[in-house]
Amino acid sequence: MPRQKVPDIEFNHFVLGQINDLFAQEKIYINPAYQRGDIWKHSQKIELIRSIESGYSIGVLVLFLNDLGKYEILDGQQRLLAIKKYLDGTLDLTETEFTAYQDLERRERIHTDAYCIYYLKLKSHDTESREEDIVQTFLRLQEGTPLNKAEKISAHRGAFKDAFKEAGDASELFKRMSGDKRFRLRLLAAEMLLLELEGDFENKIFPSLELQSFISAIKTYKKRVPPSKLRFYMANLDLLHISLNYLLTALKPSEALALYLLVSYLRKHKAGNQNLPNEISAFAKEFLKKLNSFSIYDKEAPKGMPGEIFQKYRAYKFAAKVMTTPESLKSRFEMILGEFARLKPHIEKDPKRYHDEEQKRELFFRQEGLCAHCGKPMDFRKSTADHVVSHGEGGKTDDLSNAQLLHERCHQKLEKSRRKQRKKEIAAGNLTRAGKAP
Ligand SMILES: [Zn+2]
Repeated sequence: MPRQKVPDIEFNHFVLGQINDLFAQEKIYINPAYQRGDIWKHSQKIELIRSIESGYSIGVLVLFLNDLGKYEILDGQQRLLAIKKYLDGTLDLTETEFTAYQDLERRERIHTDAYCIYYLKLKSHDTESREEDIVQTFLRLQEGTPLNKAEKISAHRGAFKDAFKEAGDASELFKRMSGDKRFRLRLLAAEMLLLELEGDFENKIFPSLELQSFISAIKTYKKRVPPSKLRFYMANLDLLHISLNYLLTALKPSEALALYLLVSYLRKHKAGNQNLPNEISAFAKEFLKKLNSFSIYDKEAPKGMPGEIFQKYRAYKFAAKVMTTPESLKSRFEMILGEFARLKPHIEKDPKRYHDEEQKRELFFRQEGLCAHCGKPMDFRKSTADHVVSHGEGGKTDDLSNAQLLHERCHQKLEKSRRKQRKKEIAAGNLTRAGKAP
């Protein structure tokens, strides 16, 4: 057993009459990381007021004194919020035996105001482990209402948490999706980030989306999330936002997740992606229409849908019900990628990016040692191989009829003029989809 963590504890109390002032002066602070909102049922609040009125204990709160001298509520948020509502007069007391706080007679009021609310004040003296101690303490105190996964993940700190929290709160994608489910969307942002960081898209192997995967990601990426991955993730969110637009308002998180996997994969692997947002947009409309055209319990395909397509979408719906397992993620990813390929035929980039030494040698002798651009002799060691149809637009590396060997300088010149040509064509609106060029 590890040594017990003994925090710096002090036992103390407020009186009930102070509570409103403490909130007003922001002495009591509900750390947004632990913000659970007002989740108690009305009957639980009334029961609490009954305890107070009868002079019984409402238990002991746990507060953490932070560096700003404010009390962060680790345990007791629901109790304090209920008391505050009672004091504000916003707690519905009809059908109870209680008089509203504002209407109490002087003597009763003094009596009520003097009710002691006991608390433990924690101050961690170990600055190194302090953050973790607070989180762990919070996670273990739950006022009888267990935290859900989103709340548990949100309570942690570190770079991974900062990244998905910022995305979940600020990205246009989630704003468009938002409703009354902030924590669910934050969890969705966390899920997408986890899949981006830990997913193996090539081999379709994804981490489970159970709490344990998040806890280990929080540890792995405590100090930093690789910036390039983070940029890629943010750009995926932007692309989804642009492509889906108003469809987002009715989109379920599980479908957003599948579309995320698709977009992330296509951005890395599909050749010629200038038009990707429009392609995703058109695809998503068709995909979501089919998906929502029948219920999971339907045994027969809806009118106009071939049986085998129906079976595919039906299997997808079943997989989407089990949202967190690697198998479910894999089968949904395969299905959506397959559907995209069927509805939007496209060319994948050659996984092999560069020509190897053997291929270059073959080109060298095929061209009899002469540069394919200027026709002058080359030094083999200083020559470079070029894709005629570029790699990004689907040019195959192993197809040597699509390759030529050039002087380095000639290669640079050629690239420059290609870029110019490309700009012109885009400006003229001729270039809609790459991979179809020459
Ligand atoms: Zn040359």
